[in-house]
Amino acid sequence: MSLPRTSNIVIIGGGVMGASTLYHLTARGVKNVILLERNEFFGQEATGRCAGGVRYQFATEINIKLSLESLPMLERFKEEIGQDIDYRKCGYLFVLTNEHDIDTFKRNVALQNKLGAGTEWISGDEVRDRLPYMQFKDALAGTFNPDDGLVDPNSVVMGYIGAAQKLGAKAYTDIEVSGFNLAGARIESVITNQGVIETPVVVDAAGPWAGVVGKMAGVDIPITSLRRQMFTTTPLPDLPRDFPFVIDFSQSLYFHREGEGLLTGMSNPNETHAFDENVDEKWELVNLEASLARLPMLEKAGLLSHWAGLYEVTPDAHPFYGKTPVEGFYVVGGFSGHGFMHGPVSGKLMTEIILDGKATTVDVSRLDLARFIEGRLIREYNVV
Ligand SMILES: Cc1cc2nc3c(=O)[nH]c(=O)nc-3n(C[C@H](O)[C@H](O)[C@H](O)COP(=O)(O)OP(=O)(O)OC[C@H]3O[C@@H](n4cnc5c(N)ncnc54)[C@H](O)[C@@H]3O)c2cc1C
Repeated sequence: MSLPRTSNIVIIGGGVMGASTLYHLTARGVKNVILLERNEFFGQEATGRCAGGVRYQFATEINIKLSLESLPMLERFKEEIGQDIDYRKCGYLFVLTNEHDIDTFKRNVALQNKLGAGTEWISGDEVRDRLPYMQFKDALAGTFNPDDGLVDPNSVVMGYIGAAQKLGAKAYTDIEVSGFNLAGARIESVITNQGVIETPVVVDAAGPWAGVVGKMAGVDIPITSLRRQMFTTTPLPDLPRDFPFVIDFSQSLYFHREGEGLLTGMSNPNETHAFDENVDEKWELVNLEASLARLPMLEKAGLLSHWAGLYEVTPDAHPFYGKTPVEGFYVVGGFSGHGFMHGPVSGKLMTEIILDGKATTVDVSRLDLARFIEGRLIREYNVV
């Protein structure tokens, strides 16, 4: 299929952000929107490598509000977009073992409840009662939200791309963007491995590479990449069907059911910013030992698969939405480990920013690039 030579809007990146933005722009009636993905398939980078977790449990008002819009969009996905995405409401159970996390999490639960998320505070004994097959003698308390859960990332990406294509949008794989032509400080065209596309508007949705793509346009976007990895096991028949998404917060160690087995991951605090997507087998051993100590039944399982992916990280663990100093060059990115779940609403917000001048579904005006220059950083505590 030959690439068009002109477009009204070019989206760079075929992960959840690009796919959702493509769909929402097209659904609002914009013609000749195209999405470019350099890989052979859509959704194979951060989105395809993510844990698929969706939750209301955050520490900042803006992240909770993004979840309050985005998760119901996932619930309605089949009806609205026509694709089953396997939303399993298993709940997230954060287990707290450090005294110094207690007050912060109490405040977080109060904030979540105030904004309309039904998160419960549970005692250490309730944690042990709910997870009798896990070792949590040191649990001091926990938080649980029954509406948190798991969704299949690939179905979300393909659902949005398929629905946008039906409305006339075009999405291409194997197209790598290598630069831009600017007229002064305004976007004029996109340079790809298959020629140049003239366009007045570009959306940088390149995930962990959003900063690299920004640089091609002369825009400084402080998004860096950080390797995170996980592994899955062979079937564990003793693992209950209703096993929640368990997060041992102080160790950044998490578990959830994956098919008939288990998925576990653990964030390495010593990981350095780089684009390495190979599994660090030494760290995998640390993850394995920590998970065995918490869930002894794991010794009955074998390793099924493992992989690494990249978080797209900003200095305050909050994303960027919107304009940049180059006219026509927009960015959506920097979700710092929890962007998959905010993908649906983010495509809608980008559409509002581009077409209406500002986002109205959720006010994300504070999540602009300028906050780093002006020192308006926002802190998120619940980063795993
Ligand atoms: C291990 C791991 C676990 C995670 N777990 C969760 C979770 O449980 N829940 C959650 O909500 N989030 C999770 N996340 C975070 C989530 O995956 C990301 O925030 C989200 O998927 C980012 O989507 P994206 O579309 O911005 O990036 P991506 O999915 O990476 O998409 C960007 C795309 O841009 C393409 N691209 C880059 N440069 C170019 C170029 N020059 N030309 C053309 N194309 C280009 C890339 O190939 C890529 O496909 C996790 C992430 C990782 C790595």
